[in-house]
Amino acid sequence: MFRIALSLLTLLLCSTAPQAQHKAHTHGEGTLSLAQDNSDWYLELALPAMDLLGFEHAPQNTAQKQKINELADRLGDSDNLIRFSPDCRLTEKVLELPDQHRSDHHHHSDISVQYRFSCPGDVSNARLTIFTWATSLHLLHTQWLTQKSTASARLTPEQPQIEF
Ligand SMILES: [Zn+2]
Repeated sequence: MFRIALSLLTLLLCSTAPQAQHKAHTHGEGTLSLAQDNSDWYLELALPAMDLLGFEHAPQNTAQKQKINELADRLGDSDNLIRFSPDCRLTEKVLELPDQHRSDHHHHSDISVQYRFSCPGDVSNARLTIFTWATSLHLLHTQWLTQKSTASARLTPEQPQIEF
């Protein structure tokens, strides 16, 4: 159910996204989509693995496996990515990180994060906290579809805030 909702979100929001899924991404840039369904808010983020791990292939040694585990821990806490105001509660998450099952023929690989939140009444804004630790990330192409607005923005370390 969660996956289906997110697939719809992807269809809705990513059809005009600057980077189609099968094209090479641009290092330093990612895409973020948000959609509201009453009190449920869905988030989907895609980022070059290079910006979060420093490599894009499947892990080849213990240090790289350790890096992936640390990143999974970090992304497991949505506060490390986004903070809503008023606060929302993370109710579901799916992380996709480079792993052994992935073909090494890809020159680029993305890290994908999908969250579902339960939010109180009126979410007025959100702040992207990922810029504070993903220091090579300088642009998030962001789109949202909420009960109040459908819009897009270019979020940066200097302007990491969304007003809904
Ligand atoms: Zn790449």
